[in-house]
Amino acid sequence: MARYLMYLRKSRMDTDYEEVSVEETLSRHRQILEKFCKDKKLNVVEVLEEVVSGESLAARPQMMRLLELVSTGSYAGVVCMDIERLSRGSSMESGYIMQVFQTNCCKIITPGKTYDLQNESDEQFTDMKFMFSRYELKTINKRLVRGRNQSASEGKFMGSMAPYGYRAYKLPGVKGNSLCIEPEEAKVVQMIFDMYGQQGMGYNAIAYALNDMRIPARKGAWSQTSVANILTNEVYLGKIRWRREPVKRVIKDGMLAKKRIQNDDYELYDGLHEPIITEEQWERVKAAQIQRNHTSNHTERQLKNPFAGVLFCEKCGGIMKRYIPHAKKNPTPWYRCTTRNCDCKMVKCEVAETEIRHAMQEWLEEYRIRIEAGQPSAIDPIDTALETVRGQLASLQLQQENICEYLEKGIYTVEMFTKRSNALSKEIKQLQSSEADLLRQRGEGNQKRQAAAEIIPTTQHILDSYSMLSTEEKNRLWKLVMKKATVYRTPEGEMTIHIYPNLPK
Ligand SMILES: [Zn+2]
Repeated sequence: MARYLMYLRKSRMDTDYEEVSVEETLSRHRQILEKFCKDKKLNVVEVLEEVVSGESLAARPQMMRLLELVSTGSYAGVVCMDIERLSRGSSMESGYIMQVFQTNCCKIITPGKTYDLQNESDEQFTDMKFMFSRYELKTINKRLVRGRNQSASEGKFMGSMAPYGYRAYKLPGVKGNSLCIEPEEAKVVQMIFDMYGQQGMGYNAIAYALNDMRIPARKGAWSQTSVANILTNEVYLGKIRWRREPVKRVIKDGMLAKKRIQNDDYELYDGLHEPIITEEQWERVKAAQIQRNHTSNHTERQLKNPFAGVLFCEKCGGIMKRYIPHAKKNPTPWYRCTTRNCDCKMVKCEVAETEIRHAMQEWLEEYRIRIEAGQPSAIDPIDTALETVRGQLASLQLQQENICEYLEKGIYTVEMFTKRSNALSKEIKQLQSSEADLLRQRGEGNQKRQAAAEIIPTTQHILDSYSMLSTEEKNRLWKLVMKKATVYRTPEGEMTIHIYPNLPK
């Protein structure tokens, strides 16, 4: 039988209306919820009452406990008075709370609404989707991850696919998996470490060499990335790498998407498995990576330009590329027109970014007013045209009936009838095709209106949470709300910026 939890918390709002004690409020809420659960036949196994009225997570011990329980994945839902009781606090914390519920398939049940965070098409989900995307979690409370860390700290293998050189197997007698060496592959791992650490070959050269030797890779052919992944994985030293935050939510095309991120914030534990390489081999590779500036192959591939594919030179239409002129002396990035001989001067990235954000904010305010003003569109010209066309059609159809009558009564000769009937049919056909045209236009108009309305919350979201977004998210969102932006800086140093919001024509 599905198990449920009940969470009671007095919110500050309650006292605004009535003078009642914390205990009274909680017991009243408890009564309401108990009756609700009885009616709905929800099996509540534990009730958590928060008497501290703190807003932050740390000041809410029962909420902390609730999250720990939900993290076990053994509860179908949490019953509470309203979603506010759970999500009060900073948007970062509420985002985190929602994430715990979502990843553990735990519903939030209130007398008014049930929130199923698994169901992305659920309309309730949209209420919260911006809240999710806002979260950028820097600090996870250790208590919450301890349980999941347990297996990793015992040296078990936590992944779903064994790294190259190993095969995963189920540990006998206990829960969990470990790794055993795959001898043929292990030899290749050894070779890769020597190629890089001793022979001074780069990632690419190694990949070429391996493909040349026809050594099979796990998937497809060897690549720079697969080689780099091996050369940076501590698993070959006999360690277990445990990522604290392996999945991140990002917005893709206006929708939330989950994405595995490569973060460097992980913990290392001694594994139960045998190492393939020695400490010495590892250290030699590390030293070579530092020399080659390959310390982190991940950051290398990370997007650094939030306007990639968005920002162009206003004068020549060329791409404005992010570029650091004196990387060693000064790490300030600039945008530079990539066209030869174009006289557009370089623009500091920071300046361009700030200006575009300002321009977007101004545009948004104007646009919002325009949309709101135009909302109750009194007379739609397409509707009016449709009405006229349909009126004319009806009258022609009536005429056609009449001429049939004329023919029957002998007023029209067959010849007269045929002539008139053909003319009428032609006119009717023309009108019918205009009608179809108008209907199509009306459909497109509706689509456009919808697209126009959607750009407002998306743009607002970027502007509100800009500092919390990753560069990739910024880029994805800019591409969503802007066709392009252009910049030009005259030889005298004067700068102009234009934005082209992504509105249907
Ligand atoms: Zn240019």
